[in-house]
Amino acid sequence: MIPAAFDYAAPTTVDEALALLAEHGEDAKLIAGGQSLLPVLRLRLNAPEFVIDLGRIDALRGVRDDGGALVVGAMTTHATVATDPLIAQHAALVSKAVRTVADAQVRNRGTFGGALAHADPAGDVGAPALALGAQFVIAEQGGGRRTVDAGDFFVDLFETAIGEDELLTEIRIPKHTGWGAHYEKFVRIAQQWSIVAVAATVRAEGGTIAEARVALTNMGATPLRATAVEELLRGRPATEDAIRDAVSSVADGTSPPADLNGDADYRRHLARVLTRRAVLTAATG
Ligand SMILES: Cc1cc2nc3c(=O)[nH]c(=O)nc-3n(C[C@H](O)[C@H](O)[C@H](O)COP(=O)(O)OP(=O)(O)OC[C@H]3O[C@@H](n4cnc5c(N)ncnc54)[C@H](O)[C@@H]3O)c2cc1C
Repeated sequence: MIPAAFDYAAPTTVDEALALLAEHGEDAKLIAGGQSLLPVLRLRLNAPEFVIDLGRIDALRGVRDDGGALVVGAMTTHATVATDPLIAQHAALVSKAVRTVADAQVRNRGTFGGALAHADPAGDVGAPALALGAQFVIAEQGGGRRTVDAGDFFVDLFETAIGEDELLTEIRIPKHTGWGAHYEKFVRIAQQWSIVAVAATVRAEGGTIAEARVALTNMGATPLRATAVEELLRGRPATEDAIRDAVSSVADGTSPPADLNGDADYRRHLARVLTRRAVLTAATG
């Protein structure tokens, strides 16, 4: 199917995009890489009257070093994020997770910010952002910016803290230089969305886990941070048995979906197995 007809504008500044959002209200929709929005429009699950293309706003693209954090522009493509040397050095968990997103074609068009704003619970960028304590910079009407912590950004299924008349401009990722990282994604076929995945990053000191950060993909309506497990991992030897014991409760209290790929209990089992693998690999390389 082809999408219903819509008017289109491609502003070159964030302020212009915000003005168009204000002018067209709920009839307007932002488009980034179009990799999630276009299928929705083609299926006519959504039929905005006005589409605002962020693709010509150069200020929304790129990765820069800001001291203790890396700043990733919302319109930076998955392909750029996956290969960026700063991200590989200071936030390896993000590089590793983004490399598992879809295929090269989708990664060349799809954007880091678009995927986070879309907030698909099976998407692969939310859990690493949550695990690393990312902050989301949102442009408001009137020219202001507000910053939302990862823990408050993901609100519900396909719902974030970004208001209807706002847009995500950049994602600030605290540096985790020297931390081991691994994204363990379970799929049935190549290039599938995650059935379950686990993002883990670990600071190891001489064979012991000094600090760990763990988050789960597709184990609920939003990415989930496994803070209790992180506490249990602290100070443990980086061995398979010790990690298995520490992560055994990782699925407690989760509400994973049930579908043709597996029921909720199967996903809870996967979460335990994948967390053990992700943490062990992150801790021992
Ligand atoms: C075949 C296929 C396979 C895929 N497989 C995976 C996968 O395995 N893992 C995975 O994580 N993803 C997967 N994706 C999705 C991919 O990651 C998309 O790139 C992503 O979900 C959306 O990014 P986008 O830039 O294309 O956003 P768009 O599709 O353009 O926009 C998505 C939504 O976000 C909103 N939006 C976009 N940018 C902003 C902004 N700056 N501020 C506020 N709102 C904004 C839009 O209005 C829209 O509602 C797949 C997509 C396809 C087509």
